[in-house]
Amino acid sequence: MSRRTKIIATLGPASNAPEQVKELILAGANVFRLNFSHGTWDEQTQRAEMVRSIAAECGQHVALMADLQGPKIRIQGFAKDAIELQEADKFTLDTELDAKAGDQNQVGVLYKALPDDCKVGDRLLLDDGRIELDITEISGSRINTVVATGGRLSNNKGINLAGGGLSAPALTEKDLADLECVAKLNIDYLAISFPKSAEDIEYARSEAKKAGYHGHLVAKMERSESVATQEAMDSIIRASDAIMVARGDLGVEIGDAQLLGIQKRLILRARQLNKIVITATQMMESMIDSPLPTRAEVFDVANAVLDGTDAVMLSAETAVGAHPAKVVEAMDRVIRGAEKERITQQSQHRLDRKFDSTHETIAMTAMYAANQMENMRAIVCHTESGTTPLLMSRIRSGIPIYALSSNPETLRRMAMVRGVTAVRFDQEYNSVAENIKASMAKLKEDGILTEGDQIILSIGDSIGKSGHTNTLKVLIAE
Ligand code: PGA
Ligand code: MN
Repeated sequence: MSRRTKIIATLGPASNAPEQVKELILAGANVFRLNFSHGTWDEQTQRAEMVRSIAAECGQHVALMADLQGPKIRIQGFAKDAIELQEADKFTLDTELDAKAGDQNQVGVLYKALPDDCKVGDRLLLDDGRIELDITEISGSRINTVVATGGRLSNNKGINLAGGGLSAPALTEKDLADLECVAKLNIDYLAISFPKSAEDIEYARSEAKKAGYHGHLVAKMERSESVATQEAMDSIIRASDAIMVARGDLGVEIGDAQLLGIQKRLILRARQLNKIVITATQMMESMIDSPLPTRAEVFDVANAVLDGTDAVMLSAETAVGAHPAKVVEAMDRVIRGAEKERITQQSQHRLDRKFDSTHETIAMTAMYAANQMENMRAIVCHTESGTTPLLMSRIRSGIPIYALSSNPETLRRMAMVRGVTAVRFDQEYNSVAENIKASMAKLKEDGILTEGDQIILSIGDSIGKSGHTNTLKVLIAE
């Protein structure tokens, strides 16, 4: 059985060589993340080109996701590169201090508005929440604090405000400039960091378009504002093509106790609203060093699969870890195990709802028929834009969905969508009947179908046009 839940691997120093990327693809990576927080345009370009050429060599449809740095607020540097803070120490953040002038008492911050965005009594969280500072006084550029949780603090670590509320804009100067690189590389998914609202995503989309990028947008849910209410969540999900449960920053802002509920709600809502959802951060964290995951990590990945996530993401594990391919192999194994659970394959098929479009009607009908009929081998979906297979895959099922398209961008995008396998098929025949016949022959040739297999197939009367899927057929492969 093929795996339904997709794996995203972040590229970095541990996965820059062609052999390493090939190993990751062979181990099961479906999507590669280019992290624009690190690396030059030349490096991102080389990575993107390398991934695409190796994917072609392996005969795999692999997608690329660019992740913009966003307005991550960071401390500047220390003269000695790092300090050790003890509980109850006094420590100051100063927006006027020089870049490398940090010492045991103070450190610089680039973000000038920080003193205006917080108040006495607020808690600042540094380095993904490892260090906690309580604000005692704000005067001019200086924020005086007392250390609540101490530890080692080194250059350029991130700052979050507990409870959220930092006002930094959705796209920084660097992000706006990076859009040009993203557009040039024709990246499949563009992840926007720290959006607060649907307006932030709409703004990002319009700036991306101006730069010549027309691909799909991923909203990283990592600010407390974006998950504060059901309406806030829904509006940002609706404005995006996909969302990421970005548990690193989100957990720092809302507190780790809230994470489980928010993850489950975000995954459920994204699926209900016909969007893609990624679960990210620390999924296999111990494998940065160790060759095997902890039991807790195994359960985390498996739970995200039961929740219905489209993809699970690896960050440092593949970017800087000791054995990137082993991490992907472990994830693949754990996902396959979780996908055997019946709960991942059963659905209500939206029986309590009216459908909005022909697309949705066809997709839901196909899934109902496929799930209810005995011996259904596959769902075969002729598609131009990829909308029909996306809608189909919002319904839980154990039956594979094959998305047949001649459009290379659609084929690559399917790499992120749960349960969908992309198959290149050129619709160059005169009639629907000929197209169906040729596509069945292609699936047999690829070893996907064998004689006697029963399938359900969706297709449109207007061949090769988007938005015309209107036909379902139950067929037996000859
Ligand atoms: P990052 O986003 O890895 O870019 O910080 C993911 C997260 O915050 O979880
Ligand atoms: Mn983040």
